[in-house]
Amino acid sequence: MDEILARLPDALLPWYARCRRDLPWRRDREPYHVWLSEIMLQQTRVEAVRGYYGRFLAALPTIGALAAAAPDELNKLWEGLGYYSRARNLQRAARIVADERGGVFPRDYASVRALPGVGAYTAGAILSICFGEPTPAVDGNVLRVCARLRDDPSPVTDAAVRERVERELAAVYPAGRCGDFTQSLMELGATVCLPNGAPDCGACPCGAFCLGRARGTARSLPVRAEKKPRRGEALTVFLLRCGDRWAVTRRPERGLLAGLWAFPETPGLLGPQEALDAAAAWGARPTGLEKSADKTHVFTHIVWNMRGYYLACAAMPERFRWVTREELESRVALPTAYRQFWEP
Ligand code: SF4
Repeated sequence: MDEILARLPDALLPWYARCRRDLPWRRDREPYHVWLSEIMLQQTRVEAVRGYYGRFLAALPTIGALAAAAPDELNKLWEGLGYYSRARNLQRAARIVADERGGVFPRDYASVRALPGVGAYTAGAILSICFGEPTPAVDGNVLRVCARLRDDPSPVTDAAVRERVERELAAVYPAGRCGDFTQSLMELGATVCLPNGAPDCGACPCGAFCLGRARGTARSLPVRAEKKPRRGEALTVFLLRCGDRWAVTRRPERGLLAGLWAFPETPGLLGPQEALDAAAAWGARPTGLEKSADKTHVFTHIVWNMRGYYLACAAMPERFRWVTREELESRVALPTAYRQFWEP
């Protein structure tokens, strides 16, 4: 057993009882609630998730309701959170639970891990928090804390390092307090042992035995393998308005933002006349170019460099769906990449 990690339960549990944040998903141990919050929190800040979490559960209060939701309703509830495949996987998993398990969330690791969109981290969080199992939930926060505590320079981007940390933590999980221990580690990483070189060691319950603090290396940990630079893609987006309606179109069912609504677009950055020509070729009979705007949107591996043209049109070709402002704002789920151009 690792001697430093073995000291964590005694240090973290009393601190967590005193200092834990009151978060909506910590008010009960209902698997649906914990699962939903963990999926929403992937790649997303706590403050951003609060509102989404409440709205989502108000609209879809049970796993059965999530399983039965219309895709457009689901996408609208997720609009702005990004990584929409998370929402699709949630629904696929909810259907498995509803159809194959009578609506009862599984309790064993293998079955939870087998649900779409549930990785080792999420499975560990659900099983420890909801069912008291000694299953660590190791994400970037927990890897950072463990690297600093032990002054460990192993690259945390390496899957083998993550698996080793999972095994080492599992060996020190305190019986009867597994859920609180998982959450105390998450809490330490989120509020005290902060990323980007700024740990608040003076406020840390582990300060007395942290090697990174004692040796002055904490700020330079964890070590990460270098990331590949993001690939840039250029595209032109069209805000075609005919009277009080705007054109939207479905994205392809596969790939980035699959199946979501978008403004019409073409690859490359077009000039003004080329944009008018493209709209004319679609049959929209453009009557004037109102304005243009350049924006970017950053995905995990790609950056979109986008130019938007706002065109008044005299026709509504059927290749697009033409929606009112009210529909666009309240019913059409438009990813942030496109929504940033919406200036009615
Ligand atoms: Fe992180 Fe500092 Fe605490 Fe060590 S003492 S775990 S570096 S906050």
